[in-house]
Amino acid sequence: MADQRVGLGFDVHRLAPGRRLVLAGVAVPAEIGPEAHSDGDAALHAVADAVLGAAGLGDLGEHFPDTDPAWKDASSADILGRVLAMAAEAGWRPVNVDVNVILERPKLGPHKAAMRTRLAELLGVAVDAVGLKARTLEGLGPVGAGRAVAAQAVMLMARAGADEGR
Ligand code: MG
Repeated sequence: MADQRVGLGFDVHRLAPGRRLVLAGVAVPAEIGPEAHSDGDAALHAVADAVLGAAGLGDLGEHFPDTDPAWKDASSADILGRVLAMAAEAGWRPVNVDVNVILERPKLGPHKAAMRTRLAELLGVAVDAVGLKARTLEGLGPVGAGRAVAAQAVMLMARAGADEGR
């Protein structure tokens, strides 16, 4: 069996006034935030789905259905922690992750370092094993119009206990 596996994650949330904007576990000052059952952290949801994908454990919606009141306003950091525990139980640990956060405004430049550090902390990897990129959609579509936030993540996982080799 291969000692490393890659996983892919994607998430999108509608944005609405009066909601808190949390991305990669960091509160970002904004006038709009995600409409979501949980805290709507699209970056962490994409990362969590990438972890599940790499570990062959299905997807976030199966494990944390938005119809379940237990996950109402849940912290996505908590959800990611649970996903990592499931992956660890299946024998997989994070190696590195690369994330795109796609948002028209506010500009995420001033928050990228904090988001990267927080992601490294949540995943238990070094900061240099975390890529965190922010971009806009140049005004195109609902994301470009500022009505949604999206995130993509690609994640490498290794067999727990396997030779580090990196
Ligand atoms: Mg989500």
